[in-house]
Amino acid sequence: MKPKLIAVSNMVTFVNPKAPVYPRLAQGKSWNEMTITWTSGYDIKEAVPFVEWGEKDRPRFLSPAGTLTFDKNSMCGAPARTVGWRHPGYIHTSFLKELWPDSKYTYMLGHRLPNGTNIWSKLYSFKASPYPGQDSLQQVVIFGDMGKAEADGSNEFNDFQPGSLNTTNQIIRDLENIDMVVHIGDICYANGYLSQWDQFTSQIEPIASTAPYMIGSGNHERDWPGTGSFYGNLDSGGECGVPAQTVFYTPAENRAKFWYATDYGMFRFCIANTEEDWRPGTEQYKFIEQCLSSVDRQKQPWLIFLAHRVLGYSSCTYYETEGTFEEPMGREALQELWQKHKVDLAFYGHVHNYERTCPVYQSQCVADASDHYSGPFKATTHVVVGGAGASIADSEFTTSNIQWSHFRDFDFGFVKLTAFNHSSLLFEYKKSRDGNVYDHFTISRDYRDILACSIDNCSRTTLAT
Ligand code: FE
Ligand code: MN
Repeated sequence: MKPKLIAVSNMVTFVNPKAPVYPRLAQGKSWNEMTITWTSGYDIKEAVPFVEWGEKDRPRFLSPAGTLTFDKNSMCGAPARTVGWRHPGYIHTSFLKELWPDSKYTYMLGHRLPNGTNIWSKLYSFKASPYPGQDSLQQVVIFGDMGKAEADGSNEFNDFQPGSLNTTNQIIRDLENIDMVVHIGDICYANGYLSQWDQFTSQIEPIASTAPYMIGSGNHERDWPGTGSFYGNLDSGGECGVPAQTVFYTPAENRAKFWYATDYGMFRFCIANTEEDWRPGTEQYKFIEQCLSSVDRQKQPWLIFLAHRVLGYSSCTYYETEGTFEEPMGREALQELWQKHKVDLAFYGHVHNYERTCPVYQSQCVADASDHYSGPFKATTHVVVGGAGASIADSEFTTSNIQWSHFRDFDFGFVKLTAFNHSSLLFEYKKSRDGNVYDHFTISRDYRDILACSIDNCSRTTLAT
């Protein structure tokens, strides 16, 4: 196609190229803390960043924000250190504390200039998180591998995430009924072309400015040879995790390690990082055990494990070729923990499709797959939900018959979990193209069903009375 000049507009300029933009919420380290992270052109030396916030018709608060950035020297290789480098601007995080459960707050991002004037963002709002164990309607969306795409269909450097806009739009459409989002790795596929982080945070702004947007790390955020990542490939394009751990806040002890626990009412989420070693004896294994074992299941019955690569089960041809139907050393290292601590659901991305197993342990269905489970916990249901946007081209399923593989979809989609109360959970898989439900199941059970023993999941007992 030959471009042809038909008209010339006036010069287009920004009103304020440094303006605060793209607020993204994340759960803080305690249940009553919300963190707000955003991007601006103001270094701390130029202006003081803060958030003005409060409940409707109540006094407003001002909370300070921290400022971070990184430079080219923090990148591990090319293109992030070379042609892909672009200064990320300044990343600010404010910590809004002592929030009231379920209360609705509005907020504005601000920067105070030395002359006393304030630069403001527009007004946003969010709902504070419930107290852990609180009985109320709680709805969480989970997916991996979304990326970004051009809304106007224009050309993009690496057009690899064709489903991403559909997923984003379906979530925005349902935002009134979504309390939290978990994006388990392969966030934006910038792969060392740093301006794409701004493109991504812009695309998800309607979601992330309204509900906590919790992320995990994937190969496209972290992997780089000789830098301590578990895999020595070039998938991060030289970023080696730095943009991901700076652009997004996570309530992790060490944001570079990227594993953390977060509670949302009746849910406990344990978010692991497959790009660091998870095997017994490692720091991460200790974290996983601690996260799974420290939850009071009477209060938080719904226990969820998440990681980017498939540590459980996937019947895609890629893992079939490996001969493992999982990431090597995955379930061998962790399945006893999942079983012992009665993990309800384990979610993965990396494979760009959707798949749900039966309740499975040691590659055997412990119970028949179903659309309705009731009574005592039998084994974890494993779910691959890596079809949120990135190309599905290399994620075909095997044609062999796999006993534990219950439902497969070779398309773009995401999962929504709804906890109605302590006894009733709804799982829905929705396609990104229409937002309709294509796979679902419910779990109905009481506390005594969690306490009840099944294979390998009860403590030793004494004969004394
Ligand atoms: Fe991916
Ligand atoms: Mn991946």
